[in-house]
Amino acid sequence: MTRIAVAIMVHSLEQGLAAAARAAEHGADLVEFRVDQFADPANLPQIVELVERSALPCILTCRPTWEGGLYDGDDQTRISLLEHIGLAKRPPAYIDVEFVAYQRSANLRQKVGLVVDHPEQVRPVSTGLILSSHDFDRRPTDLLQRVEAMASAPACRVMKIVWKARSLRDNLEAFELLAAKHKPTIALCMGEEGLASRVLAKKFGALLTFAALDAQSGTAPGQPAVAQLKGLYRWDRIGPATKVYGVIGHPVGHSMSPAIHNAGFDAVENGFDGVYLPLPIPPEYEHFKATVGAWLDEPGLHFRGASVTIPHKENLLRFAREWAPAGKEPAANTIEPLAELIGAANTLSVRDDGSLFVCNTDYAAALDAVCAGLGIGRPGLAGRRVAVIGAGGAARAIVAGFAQHGASVVVYNRTIEKAQALAERFAGLPGKVVAAAMEKLCDSCCEVFINCTPVGMHPKVDQTPVPAELRPGNKPGAKADGKVGWGPQTLVFDTIYNPVQTQLLRDAREAGCKTITGVEMFVRQAAAQFELWTGKKAPVEVFRGVLAKKLGGG
Ligand code: NAP
Repeated sequence: MTRIAVAIMVHSLEQGLAAAARAAEHGADLVEFRVDQFADPANLPQIVELVERSALPCILTCRPTWEGGLYDGDDQTRISLLEHIGLAKRPPAYIDVEFVAYQRSANLRQKVGLVVDHPEQVRPVSTGLILSSHDFDRRPTDLLQRVEAMASAPACRVMKIVWKARSLRDNLEAFELLAAKHKPTIALCMGEEGLASRVLAKKFGALLTFAALDAQSGTAPGQPAVAQLKGLYRWDRIGPATKVYGVIGHPVGHSMSPAIHNAGFDAVENGFDGVYLPLPIPPEYEHFKATVGAWLDEPGLHFRGASVTIPHKENLLRFAREWAPAGKEPAANTIEPLAELIGAANTLSVRDDGSLFVCNTDYAAALDAVCAGLGIGRPGLAGRRVAVIGAGGAARAIVAGFAQHGASVVVYNRTIEKAQALAERFAGLPGKVVAAAMEKLCDSCCEVFINCTPVGMHPKVDQTPVPAELRPGNKPGAKADGKVGWGPQTLVFDTIYNPVQTQLLRDAREAGCKTITGVEMFVRQAAAQFELWTGKKAPVEVFRGVLAKKLGGG
């Protein structure tokens, strides 16, 4: 069973012991005491005491600066440390020694040989030797040779190989090393792109993964906190058959999708055997194609779907047109026709036969949120007058969705040419689409207003795309003829969800309008993805709860 080791940088006996106790409370299985800055000869008895009194079994490591650690002393002190450990009543479960140092120094090898368990050990010792290799900059060119050399060292009980991921594809190599292991193995990738190797270490049977005690105290880039690993990423539920999902974008660190989908996997009846990760891929199509293709081609990974966000929504469509599942043609993939017309998709689902289904749940979420607000079904949208403010990616999906359902759409945009381009693009749909300059908004007789611009988004929360002079019916001298003007018959929908209650929505409520927040759209687009992947009804109240916690006030 793969265990979680919390890495603790030791500064004093008491601090180290307290941190180990907290790691135990958080549910860690082991601690790694990093004594890089505490390995002064005078402290050696305290290190022995730290190991003996630790709340959890431990790995003892004194990592030198030349291997990415903080110890800048000589090897003699490290050797003395080993001698002290050999005398301890309760020795560490493991000691970690860099493979380079182990190879280089016969003296170190001999001292290590005295304190660890190995085939020729005559003394009754239980400590295992972890031989480790780290590269903080790149994948080492001799990665496989290093692994082989470590594996063939007789005293080595565990091989540990860690490197900085160049891309998500490096995780696959870490999984291959775990699958091919000759000895218990730790294979991890550092950095944001390496998170999958840390979370999925359990899926691939690693000896352990490392976690930080909290968000501030990691000892390597990309190390998640233990609470995050166990809570957000559902560590205890991960097994060899766990299906993998994620949000593909650039950047994705801020995304709330992992929190809601993982909570959803937990919340459905009997749980769903899945885990959802942030999946950063650089913007260019070539990166998208190489990475998503490699993840799909790895059968043991069970990569079954993804939410796809900026800047990859167009790339996803192209990929579905070009990529062929094993033994099939790209034509085996299905692209939702409206997603094709919109020119962007946000959802990837891998079907049981390996082919892809690609669709756009953004427009459907907006349509259904508006229908719920108006108390009608989708057929009731025919003939409704809808004002869309903005002409970017979100507007494109929303305009297409409403026009497809027969609504008349007016696109108001700062750059009129972009609004006109949208009107032309969707000219063949059942509902009419026309373009208008922003200044014309005050004359609008639409009954639904949808903001698809980022105006009013955090941190500029007091801005609104519809200032008083543009508010329909608010123009000085305008006739209050009942047709133009915001009131109880009007629905105002802001696609922005941070903040939840935007200035636009506050103004609309003051004018007596019905309102819909961007959270509603976000929850609905995620729910449609969840249902597609799991075949289970999405726990939307759980999604709402997670978002409310993250975003504050509803
Ligand atoms: P986008 O492609 O960059 O388009 C932004 C649009 O807003 C453009 O038409 C742009 O006008 C207009 N705009 C930008 N700044 C403006 C300003 N200061 N004044 C007037 N117009 C301005 O962005 P997008 O992908 O469509 O996203 C737009 C918003 O939709 C995002 O901010 C996000 O909050 C929201 N969204 C929400 C969800 C959800 O699930 N709730 C999903 C997707 C998007 P020009 O054409 O003149 O540049």
